[in-house]
Amino acid sequence: MEIEIVPINESELKSKEVLKQPDSLGFGNYFTNRMFVVKWNEGKGWHDAKIKKYEDFQMDPATLVLHYGQEIFEGLKAFRSKNGEILLFRPKENIKRMNRSAERMSMPQMDEKDMLDAIIKLVELEKDWVPKEKGASLYIRPTMIATEIGLGVRPSSEYLFYLILSPSGPYFKEGFKPISLLATDKYVRAVPGGVGEAKTGGNYAASLKAKKLAKDYGCKEVLWLDAYNKKFIEEVGAMNIAFVINDVVTTPRLDGSILHGITRKSVLQLSKKLGLKVSEREISIHEIFEGAQNGIVTECFGLGTAASIAPVKEIKYLHYTDKGEQLKSVKFGDEPGEIAKLLYGELQAIQYGEKEPPFEDWIVKI
Ligand SMILES: *Cc1c(COP(=O)(O)O)cnc(C)c1O
Repeated sequence: MEIEIVPINESELKSKEVLKQPDSLGFGNYFTNRMFVVKWNEGKGWHDAKIKKYEDFQMDPATLVLHYGQEIFEGLKAFRSKNGEILLFRPKENIKRMNRSAERMSMPQMDEKDMLDAIIKLVELEKDWVPKEKGASLYIRPTMIATEIGLGVRPSSEYLFYLILSPSGPYFKEGFKPISLLATDKYVRAVPGGVGEAKTGGNYAASLKAKKLAKDYGCKEVLWLDAYNKKFIEEVGAMNIAFVINDVVTTPRLDGSILHGITRKSVLQLSKKLGLKVSEREISIHEIFEGAQNGIVTECFGLGTAASIAPVKEIKYLHYTDKGEQLKSVKFGDEPGEIAKLLYGELQAIQYGEKEPPFEDWIVKI
């Protein structure tokens, strides 16, 4: 794929002053000077690949994506090592997953090599935006949207794929701090046969109401239960979830409605390398409540690109019965658990180039 590099005026370049205060970067608040764009239509396939100035799109108000949500995205990070190298963590996994999301959402496939090439070229041009501090990184957001104009419900005949970059601060401002989650049977995230495995915008729009409920109960995120039994733990909505049960790192089995997280997959592989036992199976909310009370379930942590590993200190369970609502809670302690700390340290060391990755292809150097 030929990528045209459209020059931008020196005078239009944004200041990198924000990078001096990595703690105040937050997540997804700042964007670099350039973006990658490529178009698709039925006749030409992918064409007109460009790296150009980061700027607004012009869109007809009847553009399909704005009405029926035919949209997918990805999220990965570029890290800066101590000696200044820029490292991508398992980018090919994100590319493969984006193609799986595209398939589910009736959108076109991309060539894996072309997409990796586009990511590398854009990050290379914007490498000064990769923060230097450990914990901070350059977040990469591949996105694809349906751009045909019309109000008939159908797969679009035209698409736009783009990449934008956002320097982001450490996920935990106050350090590696445990969060609390709310499990409830009031709302569900995904159903068997639905789009829970696809990284598509509608899943997140549909989760906002439940997130508000979690906030009302003093929790940071929702711990989703399966839609059918409203009992088996699925994931957190932007993170997968794991428990330490009888010293085994245990995570819900990918059941068709759980997103296939790359952090989840990596932590399972890493745990095995470190000599820990792992298990992927059904885990009911009741097993966790009983097990935590009996001292069998000792840790809980979220797994996702944003936080890498997010220890959980408490799960609240809001259960609706004929007699009204019931609220229960179970605690894992205010400090991160030993296994969460171990895995977090190992993963960070690999991502920041301090340790050799356990598998060669985990790190792509730019
Ligand atoms: C992105 C995402 C995750 C985490 O996936 P990673 O590849 O580890 O970042 C988990 N659940 C949902 C719903 C997600 O969108």
